[in-house]
Amino acid sequence: MIHLRLFRLLGSRPRAIVVTATLAAIGVLLGATFVAQALLMAQVFGGIVGAWGRDPADLGARVAPWLAGLLAVLVARPTLVALRELAAARLMTRVKLTLRADLAEALVRRSAADVRGRTGADHALVVDGVENLDPYLSRYLPQQVTVLVTCLVVGAVLIAVDPLVGVVTVAAVLVLPLLPRLWDRALAARGADHWDAYGRMHAEFLDSMTGMTTLVLAGADARRQETLEGASRSLLDRTLGQLRLSLVESGLSAFALSAVPVVALAAALGRGLAPTVVFALVMLSTELVRPLRDLANHWHAGYAGTYSGRQILDVLDAASPHGCWTPGAARLDTLSRPPRACARIDGVGLTLTYPGGDAAALSEVDLRLTSGMNAVVGISGSGKSTLAAILSGLLVPQEGTVLVDGAPVSAADLLSLVATVPQDPALFAGTVADNIALGDASSDSQAHLASGDVSADDAAGDDDVSVCARLAGIGTDDPTFDLHTQAGERGGLLSGGQRQRVAIARALRQDRPVLVLDEATSALDLRSEAALVARLATHRSDRIVLVVTHRLGSLGGSDRVHVLADGRLVESGLAADLRRADGGFARLAGVTEVPA
Ligand code: ADP
Ligand code: MG
Repeated sequence: MIHLRLFRLLGSRPRAIVVTATLAAIGVLLGATFVAQALLMAQVFGGIVGAWGRDPADLGARVAPWLAGLLAVLVARPTLVALRELAAARLMTRVKLTLRADLAEALVRRSAADVRGRTGADHALVVDGVENLDPYLSRYLPQQVTVLVTCLVVGAVLIAVDPLVGVVTVAAVLVLPLLPRLWDRALAARGADHWDAYGRMHAEFLDSMTGMTTLVLAGADARRQETLEGASRSLLDRTLGQLRLSLVESGLSAFALSAVPVVALAAALGRGLAPTVVFALVMLSTELVRPLRDLANHWHAGYAGTYSGRQILDVLDAASPHGCWTPGAARLDTLSRPPRACARIDGVGLTLTYPGGDAAALSEVDLRLTSGMNAVVGISGSGKSTLAAILSGLLVPQEGTVLVDGAPVSAADLLSLVATVPQDPALFAGTVADNIALGDASSDSQAHLASGDVSADDAAGDDDVSVCARLAGIGTDDPTFDLHTQAGERGGLLSGGQRQRVAIARALRQDRPVLVLDEATSALDLRSEAALVARLATHRSDRIVLVVTHRLGSLGGSDRVHVLADGRLVESGLAADLRRADGGFARLAGVTEVPA
């Protein structure tokens, strides 16, 4: 079965053609060594039969040249195999690297817009899904070309040697292997089922591991265990079902293919052909079958790749701006050096509906952010995080534009212009310093994180890191943790407020002209929150700071505030003015603040 769509996974079309043709050509040469071996063996057998009962020296003289030829073939074949293995490994290393990089990029984009995907299944796709493609792309695809060429040539030679036997054998080869091809569709469907079960089990497992504490606290661990057992059983059933079908098909294929030389022999016998010719016909018919048998083997090794390949392309195409993925083009091409400062950011007509959502999460929002403190407020679900994600370049609105100093910018530009602390920032195992220096490729602490060596001495010596840490209140407001403190996996060794301080220090360390904090201080007490936000606003006066919050008490009177309700902007102005007016802000104060 040929899946033209999957051909794209090999790269650009000319490249894919060259690569497949090269591998196929090596396959054809390998086939040629088998054919040469068959013909030489036929000569050797013919020689032995011809010299039977005569002088052994005569026999030696007859077969010696053919034996020398056989020796040459036996040297040539491993060389060609080594060549093919090298070529396939090099090709697939490149293909898999590009695919995994593009996939990771595409999944990052998707996760910002649509969180319905499951991390475990995504992980399985990036790791095993890409791996499954290897046998399909580097074996099965080229083997199809090899089969075509080899069978045409060997068939022609067979017909030339003896037209009757040739035609009968070629006809048998055309009919017999067609039978199991009917299984291909069923096998591909089982492969899809199997892959789905595999992804599901991964997803359930990862989900359970991540939420183990919650599961135990909720008394849900036993039920969860049943879910996991169910997922494992389903995977086992599917694996066994697939193996059964695969085995039956292999058996039938092997039987049909080994019948071909028998057919050739039956057609050749009783027609007074010379022994050498009969040998040659039988051996050639075996060679006619060999590439087909290899094709069947490669199909069994590679059909799982047809399904994961389609899934990979679906993810890549959906994330591509043109709806059609080209290798390497999915990179988030951010500005190499973001501008040092910008004076204002305008959102014009920002409208976004999430995939699968029935109502717009944000509708025609116009707002302006200027240097200093800006705030977006609103009740939960009013669209604050959606707006923050658009302004950070994480989400692309369906309508509307973001302007920086009057010029429209892309989401990729925003990503490099804005330092963002999301509502649920991720922390990684390592020290607080390691986590703050996360985005710094040259940082020593990066190497520590990668190597698992988490001594913080080098990183803690980094001025930049300690300045940003102090600004975020690390080692000052809260004496219980400093740069050397271990954060633990997902920041599990820190309190909620400590995690937020680390995330803020990390964003400050990026030193971008715009800072967006999405409820990034929600776990701090009101006084610490106010002090921290005030420090951020005065630390760099030219910086645009956007604070998303539903705690109006933390806002200063001179902060410029935008009020969201149901995805629409209902009010904008200075906090002090809005407090006095009887508008959305005052109503919000009524629902979010406990009356004194
Ligand atoms: P807020 O931050 O003000 O609480 P959000 O911007 O997070 O609000 O959400 C606005 C609306 O969009 C909500 O109704 C929410 O359910 C929905 N929403 C948020 N994120 C997603 C998402 N990734 N996929 C689908 N719907 C979402
Ligand atoms: Mg939110």
